[in-house]
Amino acid sequence: MSERQRWEGRQRRIGLTGGIASGKSSVGHFLEQQGIAVLDADLYAHEALAPGTPATRAVLERYGVKVQSELSEGLDRAALGSIVFNDPQERTWLESQLHPLVRQRFDQELQTHVGESVVALMIPLLFETGLESLCSEVWVVYCSPTQQRQRLITRNQLSLEEAEQRIRAQWPTDRKIELADSVIENRGFPQSWTSQVRELLYAPPQLD
Ligand code: ADP
Repeated sequence: MSERQRWEGRQRRIGLTGGIASGKSSVGHFLEQQGIAVLDADLYAHEALAPGTPATRAVLERYGVKVQSELSEGLDRAALGSIVFNDPQERTWLESQLHPLVRQRFDQELQTHVGESVVALMIPLLFETGLESLCSEVWVVYCSPTQQRQRLITRNQLSLEEAEQRIRAQWPTDRKIELADSVIENRGFPQSWTSQVRELLYAPPQLD
């Protein structure tokens, strides 16, 4: 546990992470149904790239018409995705634009929810970006690599190569598991983790 940086305030702040398409949103949705505010990094990154924002202007300046939507004033997010997942340097550049904005949004939202006893922070790149320091505990959602690939291909309508690029852009799940406080098993049927999550919520293990 010595390497684990955690937030040590009074509020319980559950960091929810795991590989892409491992089942984070499904677990997040369940937490919302339990009345817990779920702060969503993907939503904040999506908002940062809305039409007319500084980050959108920076993206348009860098990539030009290739990433301009033909249908709206905004970005062609699929075109942007294909640039950054094909080139790690470009992904790093985009992440450097977005991560400070996402972090700012978390700080704002945590202020808004400061009176609640529990909040959840759903952050795909939680360890990659060092945001475990915002969380009092971290849960990693896990399924097998084959399930992950297949669920990603089906949900996002990607080719096998595109799915693998997106999976490779994140830390391996095993590394995340090593740093987690709890691992949510999502290898079974949908929501088969419900009793495990209830137990973590209502009878949490004592962390070191
Ligand atoms: P994440 O938020 O981690 O990217 P999601 O919760 O969106 O992942 O799940 C990825 C996809 O897999 C979604 O389409 C979801 O409906 C599906 N899914 C999640 N859990 C299961 C499961 N246990 N069995 C089959 N499909 C699942």
